[in-house]
Amino acid sequence: MLPYRIATAALLATIATSQMLPASAQTTRDQPPPPPTFATPIHDARVVFPTTVSQGAMVIGKVPPGSEVRYGSRVLRVTPYGSIVLGVGRDETGPLAISVRRKDGTSQRINITVTPRDWPIERINGVPPSTVNPPPAITARIQREQASVVAVRTRDDARTDFAQTFIWPVQGRISGRFGNQRIYNGTPKSAHSGMDIAAASGTPVKAPAAGVVTFADANLYLTGGTLVVDHGHGVSSNFLHLSRIDVKVGDRVEQGQVVAAVGATGRATGPHLHWGMNWFDVRIDPLLLVQ
Ligand SMILES: [Zn+2]
Repeated sequence: MLPYRIATAALLATIATSQMLPASAQTTRDQPPPPPTFATPIHDARVVFPTTVSQGAMVIGKVPPGSEVRYGSRVLRVTPYGSIVLGVGRDETGPLAISVRRKDGTSQRINITVTPRDWPIERINGVPPSTVNPPPAITARIQREQASVVAVRTRDDARTDFAQTFIWPVQGRISGRFGNQRIYNGTPKSAHSGMDIAAASGTPVKAPAAGVVTFADANLYLTGGTLVVDHGHGVSSNFLHLSRIDVKVGDRVEQGQVVAAVGATGRATGPHLHWGMNWFDVRIDPLLLVQ
């Protein structure tokens, strides 16, 4: 069990989950029972954040409703109950500095320590050479496609689907971990931005949490069949190398709904699901969100 999960569970119990989550988040099948709930008034004035978080974590905090919350260059969206969410990048060293300005004008500054993680080097051979060092004619296409995926990650919806406990989109062995430094056919590339789960081609992919489809394309050069589901407040999931996509942009999907099928399209050595998670432009680790 990861310390962050424990810390998060304690935090959520402390700040009365029933006031933070939509009703649908508490009745999901195949999940453990929700933590005990308390009759916390909506106008709870407490500021509650974890004191320590891991690199790659999604952090949920609680502030008095109506507060203005700043983190880095962002003003964070605050739910009517005073919940906020932010993501901690792979290379973030912290401490995270968050400022909370209450409606009455008083303010508070929170510092969160970031626990570093080990990021192993992973060598991947046998990838099609044209996807490791694409021909110049393809580079413009790749840049255009990546820009269109980056664009949907700027979205900041009021939905709080991210507050659900995430489920595995497919069952299988983890064949590639978040954050690993990857070397494809001997060429160093950027760190692995998500988690790979080995599964046969055609295996149904389920939405790990509810959301809205913001991107769906069956044929991107590097990532093949590509799907993005937005969970609100800048949190999104992307699924790559899909052999089939069952939903379209704008569709509302529920947790557990089949949205696609596993494949090996794009830069892949074999069938698997790449599940990436984002908080805006920050990549976060899905493994820290599933039980
Ligand atoms: Zn991957």
